[in-house]
Amino acid sequence: MILRQTTMATDPVCLAIVDEDDAKFTSTYREQEYYFCCNWCKKKFEENPKRYTRISTDICVDLGSCT
Ligand SMILES: [Zn+2]
Repeated sequence: MILRQTTMATDPVCLAIVDEDDAKFTSTYREQEYYFCCNWCKKKFEENPKRYTRISTDICVDLGSCT
């Protein structure tokens, strides 16, 4: 049995777990690589990347402590 080290990523659109080594659908946004389970998710992401990456950018706004 061969144990292969894999890196798992989360599809930001549908939140599926994607194996980075096997990922066929990837996209780069703001120098960050994103992995998708299917072409549909990739398209959705590229149509509106902000919608799926807002977690890291809106934290300050959500906490209300970044004025
Ligand atoms: Zn997906």
